[in-house]
Amino acid sequence: MSSPELPEWIDDELQKMRSAGLFRSRRTFKPVADGRSVLEDRELVNLSSNDYLNLAHDERVISAATSVLPEMGVGAQASALVSGRTKWHARLERRLASFEGTEDAILFPSGYAANVGVISAFANEQDTIFCDRLNHASLIDGCRLSGAKLRVYRHENLDKLKRELTKASSTGKKIIVTDSLFSMDGIPAPLVSLCDLAETHNASLIIDEAHATGVYGASGKGLAEALGVEDRVTIRIGTLSKALGTMGGFVAGSSSLIDWLWNCVRTQIYSTALPPAICAASCKALEIIQAEPDRRRLLHANAEFLRMELQNIPGISVVESSGPIIPVILKDPDLTMQIAAELQQAGFLVGAIRPPTVPEGTSRLRISITCAHQRDDLERFLKALDRSLARNGESR
Ligand SMILES: *Cc1c(COP(=O)(O)O)cnc(C)c1O
Repeated sequence: MSSPELPEWIDDELQKMRSAGLFRSRRTFKPVADGRSVLEDRELVNLSSNDYLNLAHDERVISAATSVLPEMGVGAQASALVSGRTKWHARLERRLASFEGTEDAILFPSGYAANVGVISAFANEQDTIFCDRLNHASLIDGCRLSGAKLRVYRHENLDKLKRELTKASSTGKKIIVTDSLFSMDGIPAPLVSLCDLAETHNASLIIDEAHATGVYGASGKGLAEALGVEDRVTIRIGTLSKALGTMGGFVAGSSSLIDWLWNCVRTQIYSTALPPAICAASCKALEIIQAEPDRRRLLHANAEFLRMELQNIPGISVVESSGPIIPVILKDPDLTMQIAAELQQAGFLVGAIRPPTVPEGTSRLRISITCAHQRDDLERFLKALDRSLARNGESR
């Protein structure tokens, strides 16, 4: 095999990552239904998936996808505005708008593309963006790409945000950007206070409901619905790849907002449209979450059960989280990897999250729960975690 000689710094960087315990290696998984996954021929309870409502393997969702494949083919072949938008894209847009109670909706290839594209279209060099410290990488990338001035605040203490909003120059726009449910901490953003501040300071508010769509709110629209602030948020971005079990990002909103996004968001204009079969699957998944609210109730009941029981394990620090994401902060990246490896040995797949995904010194297990997990699986998991922590002595 021949390959061009690499610049030295690449090997140097790899070496640095390895010695800091931050090197990421890859494995192949086979997702299976009901909160499980197969790794190296072994079936594990999967506590690292975002398929919160167990829809990725739902037979109705699968058959919605497969039934349109023969007619529509696999790929959309072009970006949506050129010739890639099929009747399934149009149907999904309509269904999303009706689910969200808005005039219209627009799709993106992924939630990542939605966040990067929407924020970088909305803001420019004259503007100031106020960004929560815990915001998802895709929001941060969108903020950077926009060229706007960036101010970072912490949602725990909004005084700094208030001061910065007051100080910001009045020539450009002011834009507050936040996850609605922080993806690595499972903490809901203080959306009511953020709406109040945005209104007081004449700022826009953009929120990313990636982990809240399908999970929060009476009809599953997200945290803004749960907190009664849907009409006070300038742009709400959602993803179909988590609780909906499919793929793609979206924004639902007024006709003018959606028309503007169609014309200005580069990650939409210059990227191939979603596969039509994925749109058909998403339509079905949306139908199911509307018809079966019990999935949401089960999900929250499972999460509350695990959260309560975790508190009985001595030495564990579970931050104040809510909903399906439960972080167990272990601080040290090597310890985090070790505990995750032991849990895998015991039959449980749990995300081990290290910097730069989370701040230095806050490496953690990121447990995510679905409505399909069984109580006895969760009880066995708690025992395995307790044993593994005891074996490693660290946090007692
Ligand atoms: C996963 C995630 C995204 C990206 O969504 P994809 O559809 O997976 O690209 C965006 N924001 C947050 C908060 C996420 O957790």
